[in-house]
Amino acid sequence: MPDVQVSHASRASALNRSAAFVPFNTGSLAAPQSSSSAPPIYALGEMARPDSVLVIGAGPAGLATAAAARDRGLAVQVVEAAGSVATSWRSHYDRLHLHTTRRLSGLPGRPIPAAAGTWVSRDDFIAYLEECARGIPIRFQTRVERIDREDGAWRARTATEQFEATNVVVATGYNHTAQVPDWPGRDGFAGDLIHSSQYRNAAAFAGRDVLVAGSGNSGAEIAADLVEGGAGRVWISIRTPPNIVRRNLGPLANQHLGIAVHRLPVGFVDRLSLLVQRLTIGDLSAHGLRSPAKGAYSRILEDGQIPLIDAGFLAHLRAGRIRVVPAVDRFNRAEVLCGDQRLQPAAVIAATGYRAGLEHLVGHLNLLAPTGRPVAHAPDAHRDAPNLYFIGYTNPIVGNLHEVARVARRLAVVLSAKGKDALSKVEADARRGDNSFDG
Ligand SMILES: Cc1cc2nc3c(=O)[nH]c(=O)nc-3n(C[C@H](O)[C@H](O)[C@H](O)COP(=O)(O)OP(=O)(O)OC[C@H]3O[C@@H](n4cnc5c(N)ncnc54)[C@H](O)[C@@H]3O)c2cc1C
Repeated sequence: MPDVQVSHASRASALNRSAAFVPFNTGSLAAPQSSSSAPPIYALGEMARPDSVLVIGAGPAGLATAAAARDRGLAVQVVEAAGSVATSWRSHYDRLHLHTTRRLSGLPGRPIPAAAGTWVSRDDFIAYLEECARGIPIRFQTRVERIDREDGAWRARTATEQFEATNVVVATGYNHTAQVPDWPGRDGFAGDLIHSSQYRNAAAFAGRDVLVAGSGNSGAEIAADLVEGGAGRVWISIRTPPNIVRRNLGPLANQHLGIAVHRLPVGFVDRLSLLVQRLTIGDLSAHGLRSPAKGAYSRILEDGQIPLIDAGFLAHLRAGRIRVVPAVDRFNRAEVLCGDQRLQPAAVIAATGYRAGLEHLVGHLNLLAPTGRPVAHAPDAHRDAPNLYFIGYTNPIVGNLHEVARVARRLAVVLSAKGKDALSKVEADARRGDNSFDG
């Protein structure tokens, strides 16, 4: 950790309500503590307001947090690694539509326009997020590399600068770092191997045999896209049979069912999900897919695996256009060995998930579970890290976007109450002539 030039004067004007993001000129306010070249420190507003909120990440979770906090009058600054909002959505595959409904996927108090339809397209969702971001101060091309607590405030450090804020909300995404298993022989594979996050459309795969590894929503939808886009043979390799649901149950979107049952006993919801799958999807064993052993709710809670929401996959599976093979065991030059099958695909698309990738940011603060996800989720903070919040690191049955909006609202209430307390303390101190902040 490099030396940090700290000035107590950074809090001298805590009553200042300006939310401008200005350099905090430590040089003129405090004597350097050492001769080493510490990055400059920036504060939210002219000084670090006691209710200031630094949000890291301008995806849906960060924007939801910023929007809800600003609605409550808090000083908010977002920092974003990329050059625009909604970066993850810009790189998702072309045919993607939300599998959660328009009405249940919007940011707090900002409904997605009805013109986007029930199942919002990727591009319409990006346009909507851009609209939501208007008026929110966002500093782009600013990748936070590490967060530390110093002198009762949080410091977020980039390669060249540091930012100080009373509250920090980490919203860097559940699907942050693409994961490809270290399959034996992988590096010597003669064909193309990409992660699902690199897939855009089937154009590059026309006429070529492709193996999709993994049966989550991305894997299933990419397999369907490959078939429709003119790929050669399409296989999907599956280790554990997925829980599968239709997007709609009659007139009701499946997501409504998730919301209706999320407080019911897990065992009951599991049994219900298996029954609903039997009745609405039926037996797929003739197509290589056994019925799942676990219910959908346990699968979400224990394995972080949301059900496969059918958006065209089943029709191709039943018609034999997508063939199920066992999980990938290893690669052998041009071959991929999946159980008893030896395939020779021209390309493998690893739809094998992501990691939250929070280790570098906060690993040293001991706030992460062995899964790499935070132990405490907003609106709660870990007791060893007051005022540091994590949002969006769950994959709930109610839908990630729906949950993020709900949590952002609750977090804004918590931050606003704390901010009022802190501001009144500063005001009281100022009235008493207690100038302790001036060092
Ligand atoms: C293919 C796919 C489809 C999905 N469809 C749905 C759906 O239909 N409904 C649903 O509810 N959920 C869906 N999800 C889940 C989805 O990831 C979330 O709903 C949503 O994008 C999460 O938003 P987020 O802000 O938490 O993360 P992200 O969208 O990943 O945003 C994180 C932001 O943080 C920035 N960032 C990362 N690290 C740093 C750093 N160190 N410093 C500064 N900035 C940083 C990133 O550049 C990014 O802009 C889908 C996920 C995938 C992969």
